[in-house]
Amino acid sequence: MTNLYSQNLTEERPTFVTHLECSATGEHYPADRLHNLSDAGKPLLVRYDLGALAAALDKETLAARPPDLWRYREFLPIRRANDIVSLGEPMTPLLPVGSSVLIKDEGRLPTGSFKARGITVAVSMAKELGITSAAMPTNGNAGAALAAYASSAGIESYVFCPSDTPEINVREIAYQGAHVWRVDALIDDCGRIVGEGKERMGWFDMSTLKEPYRIEGKKTMGLELAEQLGWRLPDVIFYPTGGGTGLIGMWKAFAELREIGWIEGKLPRMVAVQAEGCAPMVKAFEDGADHAERWPDAHTIAAGIRVPSAIGDFLILQAIRESSGYAIAVSDGAIIDAQERVAREHGLLLCPEGAATYAAYEKSLQDGLISDTDQAVLFNCATGLKYPMPGVTRTLDISQPIDWDAFPQ
Ligand SMILES: *Cc1c(COP(=O)(O)O)cnc(C)c1O
Repeated sequence: MTNLYSQNLTEERPTFVTHLECSATGEHYPADRLHNLSDAGKPLLVRYDLGALAAALDKETLAARPPDLWRYREFLPIRRANDIVSLGEPMTPLLPVGSSVLIKDEGRLPTGSFKARGITVAVSMAKELGITSAAMPTNGNAGAALAAYASSAGIESYVFCPSDTPEINVREIAYQGAHVWRVDALIDDCGRIVGEGKERMGWFDMSTLKEPYRIEGKKTMGLELAEQLGWRLPDVIFYPTGGGTGLIGMWKAFAELREIGWIEGKLPRMVAVQAEGCAPMVKAFEDGADHAERWPDAHTIAAGIRVPSAIGDFLILQAIRESSGYAIAVSDGAIIDAQERVAREHGLLLCPEGAATYAAYEKSLQDGLISDTDQAVLFNCATGLKYPMPGVTRTLDISQPIDWDAFPQ
């Protein structure tokens, strides 16, 4: 792949990582070691020597690199280019829908979703740190990405899905070489299975935010967005929020870019979009709480955001509040309606979670939370091709004369 041809694969490059930091207590942990959660049971964040990074990289050098995720390697923790496990992660387009809305179409990434961003970095680090076996719970897309990247790296993968995970996801996970189980439970219950089994089975726990590197991969959405917009940012970002890695990751990216002086001024309002049938962040935001309670009987057609409890809940809420953003829930009906209209009117096949951001954008306009002159970026996080679509019954009988008058004009 172009991104790799341009690099010296065996060269040991300095990373700018200084340490890892507990997101709750600030306690430091050494880099270049295996980590899951901090001693406080909270996510670890990777910290960099941003001064040295800024001295080593400028925007012009960056602009000349191949258009993929690894152009941001100075902002990432991998030490040896040889350890990079890539399936070709292209920069994704920003597509205008109306005058002030851009849809960032993440469905173009390997395995058809933005989970590839997190997993390419996490699996590369896993390889660098000598991991041979990894496990995770998933609502579909993360498991598919893990299966693909782990197989590519020669790492065994074990994946646990709620039994009503979209069929295509379960099949692609199995087909790409993972051991996969359907579990009659929700994703946090699946996560518990990984937690219970990991010691005995020798699995590395790759759950969302339970290892520190997926978020670094997801962070590239924020770096890429800033670069694509000429190092300025939109007024508001709508993000379909499950575990929240992308929202937290982008917020981290913006902080890093601001610290090195590559962006200035106001940061975007971060909007966490959830489904009415599973909206723990919306409830916590509205209650003024720092943490979210587990959402009972979570249900929505948008499987990727059916996450009843998220370990990074306090980080999601912090990012929303620091950015003067908010959390908003939309109904499954509004999601289906938005998905259909965007497909018909704009030729864009959104996933239900992406359609949720569109529905949330419209609802926000109606409720006066934003104005129609605000530049908004919506995240379509997976290709719509992975999800069921209404059937088509019309046929044409080749043995009969064709009735051209019956054709729609
Ligand atoms: C995982 C996923 C989400 C949620 O992303 P988080 O960063 O975990 O909140 C949204 N949509 C789709 C399609 C997903 O696969």
